Formats: sequence, C-alpha cells, structure tokens
Amino acid sequence: MSERVIPLIDERQRKIGSHVPAIPAQLSTPNGLLADTRGRTLHDLRISVTDRCNFRCTYCMPKEVFDKDYPYLSHGDLLSFEEITRLAKIYIEHGVEKIRLTGGEPLLRKHIEKLIEMLASLKTLSGQPLDLTLTTNGSLLRKKAQALKDAGLSRMTISLDGLDDVTFRKMNDVDFPVGDVLDGIEAAREVGFKNLKVNMVVKKGTNDHEIIPMAQYFKASDVTLRFIEFMDVGASNGWNMSEVLPSSEVIRKIHEVFPLTNIDPNYPGEVAERWKYIDGSGEIGVISSVTQAFCKDCSRARLSTEGKMYLCLFATEGHDLKALLRDGRSDLEISNAIAQVWMQRTDRYSELRGSPEMANKTKVEMSYIGG
Ligand code: SAM
Ligand code: SF4
Ligand code: SF4
Repeated sequence: MSERVIPLIDERQRKIGSHVPAIPAQLSTPNGLLADTRGRTLHDLRISVTDRCNFRCTYCMPKEVFDKDYPYLSHGDLLSFEEITRLAKIYIEHGVEKIRLTGGEPLLRKHIEKLIEMLASLKTLSGQPLDLTLTTNGSLLRKKAQALKDAGLSRMTISLDGLDDVTFRKMNDVDFPVGDVLDGIEAAREVGFKNLKVNMVVKKGTNDHEIIPMAQYFKASDVTLRFIEFMDVGASNGWNMSEVLPSSEVIRKIHEVFPLTNIDPNYPGEVAERWKYIDGSGEIGVISSVTQAFCKDCSRARLSTEGKMYLCLFATEGHDLKALLRDGRSDLEISNAIAQVWMQRTDRYSELRGSPEMANKTKVEMSYIGG
C-alpha cells in the first residue's frame, strides 16, 4: 500500500518560538503611521477565528486533505477572545480601521457574538467605530443573524458560488442545499444588515455558467455581488491557470446581457473593481487577484487562528504573536514587535506569480489564515 502524502505545510507542527518576532531594545509609542518597505500602511486586519469548516469547497478545503485525520487545532491552541481583543487594540494603535472575522467558518466558533461585542466596543484612532465585518458561508446565518446584529457587527459578506442546487452542492462538497444559504441571506436582511455583499468564486468549467443567473438574481437587490478569480492559495486545491476565468471575461459576459459601465473605487486601493448596470439597477464588483495584482496598495495583515501574524495571503511563514502574549510581554513590547515585522514587509506575491522566485513556494492554507 502506498503511503498517503498530505501536501501541506503544517505550521502548527512547528515549535512555538521558531518565528517569534524580536522586540526592539528601544521601544516607541505607536502613532498610527506604520509603513512597510514599499510605503504601504497597515489599515486592515483579517482574523481567522477557527480553522474548521462545515463545507469542503474544492478550491479551499478539499475533502481528500481536510478529512477526519486532519490535525485541526485544539481549543488551547486558539487565541482566546481576550487575546484577540488585546491584539486588535494594539493593531488599531498602528492605524487599523477595519477588522474582518473569517476562517474556516467563523460562525462555527462558539460564542462568536461575544467576540464581536468585545471588538465592536473598540474605536479607531480618530475615535470612530471600527468597521467590523465578517465573511461566512451563510449556512448558520438563519440561526445566528440576530445575535450578530445585536453584538454590533457592522457588515457582512456571504460566499455563494451559484444558484443552481446541483452546482452548489458539488462546490461545497458536503451536499449543502443552496436554499439554506439564500434563506440565511434573507435572515441577515430581516435583522437589519445593510449593504450585504455576496462573493462568488468563479471556477472555469465548474460554475461559470452561473455568472448570468447570479447577476440576474442579485441585480436590483440590496446585495452587491462580487466575482472572485479562483486563486492558487494554499497547497492543496490543485490550482491550475486553465480553471481561472479572468474577471475581464466575467464583465464581458454580463455586459452582453446587462450593459455595464466602470465606476470609481469607493476609496483608493479598494480590492474590488466596481461596475454599475447602465439601467440603474445597482452594481457588481470583480476581484482579479490572479490577472491584475493589487499588491501595490495592499494594506492587509492577517492573524491566524492560533495567533500568528501573516503579511500576505500567500505567505509561507507567520510571526508568532501568541508566544509573546503568553510570555507575559507588555502591550508596548508587542506593539513594537508588530511594527518591526510590518516595517520589514516586502510581500507582493501576486505581482511575482509565475516567476522563478515564487516557484515551489509552500503556502499556508487559506482556512488557517483566513480569506
Ligand atoms: N468560510 C467563510 C466563507 O467561505 O465565506 C470564510 C472563510 S473563506 C476562506 C473566505 C473567502 O475566501 C470566501 O469568500 C471564499 O470563497 C474565498 N476563497 C477560498 N478559497 C479560494 C480560492 N482558492 N480562490 C479564491 N477565493 C477563495
Ligand atoms: Fe469553508 Fe469558506 Fe473554505 Fe468554503 S471557502 S471550505 S466555506 S472556509
Ligand atoms: Fe496583498 Fe499578498 Fe495579495 Fe499581494 S498577494 S495583494 S501582498 S495579500
């Protein structure tokens, strides 16, 4: 019998301490003006609250790898809500204004609404409420929407890869019915969430026939639909360029049926390119992570489920902040360690994709650092 190979880098098996960021001898007070080697500021923090998920989307957590033997993190390895909130405060002092909770499936984390309540009480440096948002597969939304709203979540993005039940079940690979996600979106509306976003990952040959039905369904609704190019995240999704449908193609297909015109970004560096329907029935977005790199404005840091800071979605190594937290370091010390890490940041994977420099690079899984 041949030995089974899991083609993964398992960061969790590495000894804690191997990537603990250094604390500079000279400590300085954060002023919200941190920039990396390319002048990119730190504005956006994505926090993965669990590495588990009830879906097995083939492009993210394929069943063959994420099976019952997969070494998920144990509860003690996860950052506690208090630890997450403490780090969030430190990040805010460096200029973070937006926090997105993600995973894995964030709604699987027990008492997630308690964490949301804790984060929602934080203010940005300019005294404004934090832009606190969450990305979910929507499967538990009917149950959770009210609690999320009451806890102070500002916004929400729901992932949905098609309306056709057969296609949807095939993509989530756990036979989850699309009707329940649509009902979850409805639940979010009912409890008062505004400006909902729906993300559709487009895989050529798998769900590209769902582009027009999705556009039609969400057109003239209060939901902004965004199409995401299938990305080469992690090491297990069998990514192949031939399965990427460039966003330009998505726009072309929709434009043929529902004419579109390009509109300005909401703010500089916005990841999604915006298009509106000429007939005035709303807008869509495209996120072209493969065909149009947006590294030059990338202001996102990621915090993994077990408290490692990652500087890029395609990173290989994390910087172990949990070790600092559990080693009794002060906020100022941790703040300075984070500053050092960010100031040395050079990441720009999407710009270098396909170059020899990036060949054979082992990347961390998306369900672990959060999308
Ligand atoms: N489970 C939640 C969900 O699906 O919304 C949150 C975590 S998921 C990793 C975050 C986002 O990443 C989702 O919108 C998902 O579709 C997207 N994603 C995952 N793998 C991807 C890939 N290979 N290419 C593009 N997007 C991907
Ligand atoms: Fe789960 Fe989200 Fe990944 Fe799908 S994309 S497997 S729902 S974490
Ligand atoms: Fe940011 Fe890395 Fe994506 Fe470039 S590839 S936009 S640096 S996360």
